[in-house]
Formats: sequence, structure tokens, C-alpha cells
Amino acid sequence: LFVTLEGGDGAGKSTQSTLLADWLREAGRTVVTTREPGGTDLGVEIRHLVQHRRGHVAPRAEALLYAADRAHHVATLVRPALERGDVVLQDRYLDSSVAYQGAGRVLGTDEVRDLSLWAVDGLLPDLTILLDLDPAEGRRRMAARVDAPYDRLEEAPDDLHVRVRDQYLALAAAEPERFLVVDAAGSPDEIHAAVRARVAALLEG
Ligand code: C5P
Repeated sequence: LFVTLEGGDGAGKSTQSTLLADWLREAGRTVVTTREPGGTDLGVEIRHLVQHRRGHVAPRAEALLYAADRAHHVATLVRPALERGDVVLQDRYLDSSVAYQGAGRVLGTDEVRDLSLWAVDGLLPDLTILLDLDPAEGRRRMAARVDAPYDRLEEAPDDLHVRVRDQYLALAAAEPERFLVVDAAGSPDEIHAAVRARVAALLEG
């Protein structure tokens, strides 16, 4: 079972990943939690390259670096885990690129999706949980975090985040069977309950 979490900064992806992983492990499943960019050693280097040079990487180069990270991650970590029968819970996947590079950086959503699908040889998640949040609220939450990456807050223009959110919602509307959209303004427990219900249904099916 391949589950991805998507959403803007401050939406609570890592909190939900932890809650879901704990619940699945209690139910006896072997769970691999991972993230992109940066889920492998090579990915950590790519993450560093992209994120520490934010604003200085040409948008197409940025899209290719994220795709390279994703290709390596899927080939060396995600596919082997899925082939063993593990549950893979992944923070961000190709929908992030469609939203951030395709819509946010205006590179074209179809082109970026095609690039991503090529990079991962067509691997799509069984379920994508979209934690939907008003970007202004996400920004407030990030600013309140002790480990807040302030460079990110300052750099990112608000309209980029609005485009990202709108694109995520459009992706979810186009593929309702793959997506679960949850209002991320709710409490972590409320969100976890909605996520759990959908994952339980998938595991039974
Ligand atoms: O979720 P995480 O903290 O790893 O994301 C870091 C940032 O990297 C995001 O806020 C986003 O600005 C950026 N990102 C991106 N394109 C991606 C993935 C992440 O622009 N495909």
C-alpha cells in the first residue's frame, strides 16, 4: 500500500504521518515512513542543493532536480518496500511537483506530471491525503514553530501558495478515487480519524 501526504507548509503532514504510522504498526503492519525531497542519501544532497539556493535555481532545473530525487527514491527505496509488502507512507510525491513547479513556478502542470511519471516509471499512490489549508493560516503556523525555516517564509510569494493550493484541489477533483481531501484547520485527532477511516477501508478492500 502506497500512501502519500500532500499540502502546503504548516498543514500538518508530518504529524499525520506519525499518527497514521503508529496506528498501522499497532495493527501489525510493517510501515516505511519517508519523504521527498531527501528520502535517500542522494536525495539529501539534492534537497540541500535546491533548498539552499532557492531563488537561484532556474525553475526548469528545479523541476528536474526534484524529478531526479524522486526517480532515485522510488527505484531504491519505495518500490523495494512495496514489493516486500510494506506500507509506504510518504511526505510529498509527484503531486507536489505538479502543484509547486507546474502551477507555482508556472512550468505547466501537464509537462511536470509527465516528467514525474517518467521519472518513477508510472508509479502512482494508492491513496493521496491532501491536507487542505488556507496558505495564510499555514504561514501563521510556520511562523509560530520554534524550528521555523524563516528563509522559506520570506522567500515565497503569497500568490505562489495560492496557485499551489488551487492546483492541489484541482488534482484531487480530477482523481477523487485516489485523493482524500481533509480540512487541515481541524484538530490533529479529527484529521487522523478521517485518514484512518479511509486507510482502513483500503486495507479491507
Ligand atoms: O515539506 P517540506 O518541508 O519538505 O517542503 C519544503 C519546501 O520545498 C516546500 O515548502 C516547498 O516550498 C518546496 N517544495 C517545492 N517543490 C516540491 C517539493 C517541495 O517547491 N516538489
